[in-house]
Amino acid sequence: MQEGNQKYKHALGIYIHVPFCSSTCDFCAFYQERPSKKKIDSYFLALGEEILKSGLVHAVDTVFIGGGTPGILKSEELEQMCELISRLGLKDKAEWTIELAPNEVTSEKLSALKKGGVNRISLGVQTFDSKLMDALGRKHGPEKVFRAYELIREMDFEAVNLDLIFGIPNQKLEDWESDMGKAVELQPDHLSTYCLTFEEDTALYHRLAKGELSIDHEREALFYEHAWEYLPKRGYQQYEISNYAKDGFASIHNLNTWKMNEWVGFGPSACSQYQLKRWKNPSNLEKWEYGVKEGFSTSDYEEFTELTNEIIAEDAILFGLRMNQGINVLEIADRFQLADEYTEELFDFFENLKNEGFVERNQEWISLTKEGRIRADSIAVEIPALSEREY
Ligand code: SF4
Repeated sequence: MQEGNQKYKHALGIYIHVPFCSSTCDFCAFYQERPSKKKIDSYFLALGEEILKSGLVHAVDTVFIGGGTPGILKSEELEQMCELISRLGLKDKAEWTIELAPNEVTSEKLSALKKGGVNRISLGVQTFDSKLMDALGRKHGPEKVFRAYELIREMDFEAVNLDLIFGIPNQKLEDWESDMGKAVELQPDHLSTYCLTFEEDTALYHRLAKGELSIDHEREALFYEHAWEYLPKRGYQQYEISNYAKDGFASIHNLNTWKMNEWVGFGPSACSQYQLKRWKNPSNLEKWEYGVKEGFSTSDYEEFTELTNEIIAEDAILFGLRMNQGINVLEIADRFQLADEYTEELFDFFENLKNEGFVERNQEWISLTKEGRIRADSIAVEIPALSEREY
């Protein structure tokens, strides 16, 4: 809970990082390792201890199990993981999601997850096109996706998300439309569409550095805009730059993050924002296990920041603008007790953007227009800084 302003009760999300993958995708910048029985056993021991020592002071609203490849775990291990998570004190009807890769989906695993409390599956499709899948260094073909989706639907989870990637080398706009069309035919409840990024130290980044690939921001913008047009016409309302849902199926876990509420991450490389602190666990299995056992000092974390209202307010503006509903400036000012001068400066800033056609204003609500969404990153860096001022 934020100090100083008790009016705003914060939802709490839990993230569990499962750091194992059988191979590395060419675009991947997540922390992951090849699994072995020994590593998985010690991971579970440390995870149990980290959960036991967490000392959360309020009940959990959402859980997200990601990775890595959580589905690489056996069904008994998934059962054990659910049991550990349940010890955190989940609210009734907490949203509980797991990411699964199509290759790893089996009825046994799904049934263990359902029994354990998971109610939402996020399936990593990426693309239905085998050639583009090869370009990503992923190992599943479209038939695996269809089979996995069928098994998931048979198990009657409350919601299913499909993850799609666009901006893949050699992908044409028609290919992107074909991928979206195939996803829509399956009728998932939620769709996440990510633009391929070239993160340092990935195989794709090395190809970029060698000049074998190039980044084309105009082409990326076309792909974004096509999704913004295409998916809402087919029943998927856009609620964030990259996310779409049927009515009532938006991801509460993601919304919680963009609204800068609170979340606690477990496992190596997991990030947390809790009780005015933000930290990232070490992206290394041994260092994380050691820290869990001995207790972390702030210097053991990969990143650690003491938060102020000003830092969180800036992020609530920045991430809030990613959502289609935008931000309520007066509510943010009230929640973070911002100075009137800053609030006025913010309204002036948005007034200029409105004149340029990048934002819309509806009383105290500000949201990005289509043109604004394309420039979301450059708008974000221009937002008047707050954390270093003294009023
Ligand atoms: S499955 Fe996910 S975490 Fe694993 S290598 Fe591929 S992108 Fe990275």
